[in-house]
Amino acid sequence: MTESNSTQLQPMPTDWQRALAVVAHPDDLEYGCSAAMASWIDEGREIAYVLATRGEAGIDTVAPAECGPLREREQRASAAAVGVSVVEFLDHRDGTIEYGVSLRRDIAAAIRRHRPELVITLNHHTTWDGGVWNTPDHVAVGHATLDAAADAGNRWIFPELTEQGLQPWNGVRWVAVANSKNPTHAVPAEPGLERAVRSLLEHRAYIEALTDEDPETYVRRFLTENTRELSARFGGQPAVVFELFNR
Ligand SMILES: [Zn+2]
Repeated sequence: MTESNSTQLQPMPTDWQRALAVVAHPDDLEYGCSAAMASWIDEGREIAYVLATRGEAGIDTVAPAECGPLREREQRASAAAVGVSVVEFLDHRDGTIEYGVSLRRDIAAAIRRHRPELVITLNHHTTWDGGVWNTPDHVAVGHATLDAAADAGNRWIFPELTEQGLQPWNGVRWVAVANSKNPTHAVPAEPGLERAVRSLLEHRAYIEALTDEDPETYVRRFLTENTRELSARFGGQPAVVFELFNR
């Protein structure tokens, strides 16, 4: 065991009120961190979701024109299951999101609209834990979100946003990366776990296309195993883990 694999995970910061989660696809937040969202909502915090795409290329048997609206509905229901009511879509194209200035601008605009102290995104590394290759959409959105946390605070980088009435917001204090292979911080998963199960189950069309297993059995096993994976590094508690970047 390397030193980084045995280090205890630190509790996530609690001195914040607003968070914005920015991910590529419907289900990205539910496959791991929605139990943390449920706990934060319980504590009276405000959380909004921004998705770069509607996940229209995510189900092999359903064409994008039908799939996009279906997955949007599933995403709104899954957010509602953990108490999140603000869900926005940036309408980049699923599967071919490009890292670049236009993605950074769209995410910086979202950060200026919502003015979060904490920004959450999904694994921006090229691999997942265990060496499995990540998808280019996740890498692009994660990377652009880390960049946009700074872009949002600089009035000279995207002056057109200021002209649209979106004033600079330099108040992002942390970017937390979910499902990273290098986690540093954690939130206890158990208080929000049942709602996380219901939340992931709302992606029913996606899950039914993915597996022949009973959806609830599949979802419950996935989230239970996922949150127990690093519990030894968090006082034995099931945990939602993040790699935390300070600003
Ligand atoms: Zn995804």
